[in-house]
Order: sequence, then C-alpha cells, then structure tokens
Amino acid sequence: MKDVLKKYAELLVFAGGNVQKGQPVVIGGNVNDAEFIRMVQSAAYDAGASEVAVDWQDDEITRTTYLRAADEIFETYPDWRVDRFKFYDDRGTVYLHISSSDPDMLSGVNPERIKTLTKVSRQKLKPHSTLTMSNALRWSVLAVPSAKWAKKVFPNLPQDDAVQKLWQAILKAARADGENPITDWKKHRENFTERKNFLNSKQFAKLHFANGLGTDLFVGMPKNHVWIGGGDVGQDGVDFFPNIPTEEVFSAPDRNNVNGKVVASMPLSFQGNLIEDFSIVFKDGRAVEYHAKNNEEILKNIIEMDDGSHYLGEVALVENSSPISQMGILFYNTLFDENASSHLAVGKAYPNCVKGGNDMSEEELKAAGINDSIMHVDFMFGTADMQVVGISEDGTETLLMQNGEFVF
Ligand code: ZN
Ligand code: ZN
Repeated sequence: MKDVLKKYAELLVFAGGNVQKGQPVVIGGNVNDAEFIRMVQSAAYDAGASEVAVDWQDDEITRTTYLRAADEIFETYPDWRVDRFKFYDDRGTVYLHISSSDPDMLSGVNPERIKTLTKVSRQKLKPHSTLTMSNALRWSVLAVPSAKWAKKVFPNLPQDDAVQKLWQAILKAARADGENPITDWKKHRENFTERKNFLNSKQFAKLHFANGLGTDLFVGMPKNHVWIGGGDVGQDGVDFFPNIPTEEVFSAPDRNNVNGKVVASMPLSFQGNLIEDFSIVFKDGRAVEYHAKNNEEILKNIIEMDDGSHYLGEVALVENSSPISQMGILFYNTLFDENASSHLAVGKAYPNCVKGGNDMSEEELKAAGINDSIMHVDFMFGTADMQVVGISEDGTETLLMQNGEFVF
C-alpha cells in the first residue's frame, strides 16, 4: 500500500500540479492525513520545488468554530490571510489540495454563518481565485479517505473496512491503481482530444438536454466558445490536471441564454450539507425558480449569494459509462460525483472557455457571455437516459448523446 500511496502522491505533484524546478508549493490538507501530506511534500521536493508549505486544516476545529464562535467572527476575513495568499501568488506558487472532509461536517450549523463567511472570504480572495481560474497559477486537487467520509459512503461496513473500501474506490476512480499512474494519465489526456476537436469545430449555438427525470433545458453557447477536457494548460504553457479524477469535457454557457428546467440527478454536498431532490428553472439565463426537498435554504444561499450566482458558469458532458458512474457509488464529494454525470455549475465561468478569454477584462468577458461570481458550485443532472442535441446557428440538429453515451 505504501508504494501505491507514494505513486498517488507523485501523481498529484508531477501530473496534477506539474511542479517545475524552483517553484514554491502550498499544500492544503487535513491534520488526519499528515502521513500522506508528508509524502506529497517529499515528492514536491523531488520535482525541484523551492519551498513546500502546508496549510493545515481540521474538521473538528472548523465545526466547533462554526458552532461556538461569536457572530462577528463570520463577518470579517483577516487581511493577513489575504496577504498570505498574495505572498505565494506573487511567487508563482503551485497549489495542491488534499480533500478528505466528512460530507456532514457542517450539518446542523446555522446556514447564515456559512453564507456570511463564504461571502466575505470569497470577496477578499477574489484576486487569488481569478489567478487560479484563469490558469495564471497551476493547482490540483485529489482525495484521500477519512473515517467519517468512509462511513458516510459505506454505512454498513465496520470503520476500518469502510476506509479500505473507499481507498480502493478512490484509487480506481483516479486511475491511480496501475503500475505507472503518471503514464496512464498522459494517455488519458490524449483520449479527450478527438471529442474536444469535434465540439470546438462545430461551434453549436445551443445544446438541448432532455431526460425522463424532467430536465428540459436549452443551454446557449457563446460565440468562439472552447471545450476543455483531459486537463488544462497554464498561462506559462505547462500542462496540468486541476482535478484528479477528471472525466469531463466542459465549456461555459452563454450567461443570458439558458432557458428551461433542470432536475438534479444526485444530491449536492455543499460545505458539509446535503441538498437533495432539487430543480432549477432558468429564464434568459437567470435562475427564476428553484426547489429542494431537503436543505432548500442552503440551495437558496448558493443561488442568491450574488448576482452572478443566479447564472450558469459551466456545462460539462460526462458519459454514463465513465468508470466512476459504473462503480455506482455516491461519494458525497463533488470531485468524484461530478465525474459520474453530466453537470452544470452556477456562478463563475472559467475565462478560457472562450477564445482569448484570459486576456479579456471583466467587462469584455461579460459582453462575451462569460459569467462572473464569487461562487462556482457544480451539480449533477446527467442520467442513463440523457439525450443531448447540438443545435447549429442555422437550426441544424446533431445528436451528441443518446442514453447517456456520446454518439459522435
Ligand atoms: Zn466540471
Ligand atoms: Zn465546475
């Protein structure tokens, strides 16, 4: 197992963030994962990192803070934290994140507190997220199991078995269970090329999504939109994988040109709360109506966070036959669940989803139909009976997906 974990740590450093000689690295992770984080640190120094700093987190401390700290604690975000990001951003740091949180970490916490802190921290850290979302900085995230997360996914197994089982599922999903994961990921990248090239050359004006769950949605696409998949390329030309795993081909919708209803096909785990059985109606791009059977209040906080969070910032196609979908496991973690199913995101779009987007001002991006927000929250709507039709400018229709599988 130690050998497998070492390879997994190297996958994050060499393929995920693709750390280059002389670059600083900041690792964000949980204290319970210290052993794995030390492996990542070593791998980063092997790659030639100049410094590897760790930003430690702890679920229990976070939860207790949310439950017991004074109200005003959630209304401010300290400048020294902002400065810390700026210090590392200015040095071209690669950010690596190890995700392992309990999906229920914040259940029962007053949603107002989460909303307030999310809003103030995202506003203060906008310069940092602008750099990462425009690929000026490289970043990558992968996951390791925690005991609570494993029990959530496999509630009927004893804890140790649940953790083992989640490890297996994670490594399989992440294509990290082979002899040479880094080589496997190079091949994985190449598999996306044909599909991206087809979609990019077609330049569909709209996509029509429909399924038996009740989704009937027209997603307009901006002029000169770009489909991205199988990893990304930094502004310095160095390629990287922001997410391990990744099975999606995605782009940005035209923010003012989305109409119809989308019904979620999986629960949305957001900051330790599970939003279940929900749907959103869009008119001219804006979410005008939404309902959830469970945690509608949290859904409301996401959609109404700012103006941009009422609009879509991502449309992603994932085949029903993707390895994660085939495992049939609900991970309660977007990193995995978004690769099991076609999905949308409310909030900020990646600027490189339109040609030349990284060089455009905020106004130019908005005029090009690229949405902006302090949020970016993915939710799943793909199903085994999903049909997707691409509609060209002249009205010609091309079937793209039938029964959840690509047909081009
Ligand atoms: Zn996505
Ligand atoms: Zn996304």
